[in-house]
Amino acid sequence: MKASTDMHMTDEPFRDSFNRQIDYLRISITDKCNLKCIYCMPEKGLKLFNQAEILTTDEIIRIVRIASKYGVRKVRLTGGEPLLREDIIHLISSIKTAGIQDLSMTTNGQRLAGMAGLLKKTGLDRVNISLDTLIAERYREMTRGGDIHRVWEAVSEAESAGLSPVKINMVPVRGVNDDEVSRFAALTLYKDVHIRFIEFMPVGKHSTWQPDAYLSKDEIMERVASVGKLVQLPFKGGGPSRNYRIEGAQGMIGFISPISDCFCGSCNRLRLTANGKLRPCLFSETSVDIKAHLRNGASDEELENLYRNAVLSKPARHALHEGSLLHPAMSPMSQIGG
Ligand code: SAM
Ligand code: SF4
Repeated sequence: MKASTDMHMTDEPFRDSFNRQIDYLRISITDKCNLKCIYCMPEKGLKLFNQAEILTTDEIIRIVRIASKYGVRKVRLTGGEPLLREDIIHLISSIKTAGIQDLSMTTNGQRLAGMAGLLKKTGLDRVNISLDTLIAERYREMTRGGDIHRVWEAVSEAESAGLSPVKINMVPVRGVNDDEVSRFAALTLYKDVHIRFIEFMPVGKHSTWQPDAYLSKDEIMERVASVGKLVQLPFKGGGPSRNYRIEGAQGMIGFISPISDCFCGSCNRLRLTANGKLRPCLFSETSVDIKAHLRNGASDEELENLYRNAVLSKPARHALHEGSLLHPAMSPMSQIGG
């Protein structure tokens, strides 16, 4: 069914051309990062945006207001590392008051300790913290300089601050940290923590992705199942995560597997890149340059039009099955936000 392009007057999220309701916006608020994870950024040579290219807080808020008018109720702040942005507190409070019910953040946790309470008070609801290994030395190597102790401090402070449920994102890479999948799964046995195993994705020309380094959902699940019987939980919302619990465990385990278990049919999201492009699909370079119009004095009506066009240009599914996305034109994950 073709979605309507009439002015949007209801609270119902705007539907794309495949009748999927789009109620979730992921915003990369900076492409800068204080780490350089081996699967995300190269050690050197990645050209960052100039400050002038990055959306300002006022520009982000204007776009969020328009998205909110079209039924977006969930926003995630990501990056790069979102906590590097100096105006983060103002950004969070402004987004929260722009009609957004669920405001979350994905962070590497290096700067979260000491800020979690304030972020919660300002309007942040939840955090996902990326942690790919439980071994301090390996963490330093995988992130090219990160301190694992800060991540654990961040997890415990986020829990105390009520930024819950705190979810831990883990990307298994063969030969690097795949031997720790079952140890991560075992963390859920006695602790109410959400572990999310994310498939290593071939995104960006600098990516170290190789077919051999990638583990499919089946392979990850097999390792998790060595810890205990996996019980599937009911599918909720339009998110990509397929959720399970090990029988008797306190925490949950999610699998995000765009390659081996494509979830495009229930995709509910749009992305906004740090340099102001609305991106209908993570795995496609097609985008709508909303910043260019914004800075040329576009009216709200014109911006709404661009928003609708971005939603309506969402593809039915990603093209990962048609080949690699490691070509030179592909943006790095740190610009898109994952
Ligand atoms: N810097 C923050 C962090 O690391 O949590 C937010 C940005 S990061 C790009 C968002 C998520 O994307 C992280 O959980 C990270 O592990 C994941 N990610 C980055 N590159 C990836 C890749 N090639 N395949 C799968 N996940 C990736
Ligand atoms: Fe930075 Fe996050 Fe990418 Fe790691 S995954 S380099 S922390 S943006």
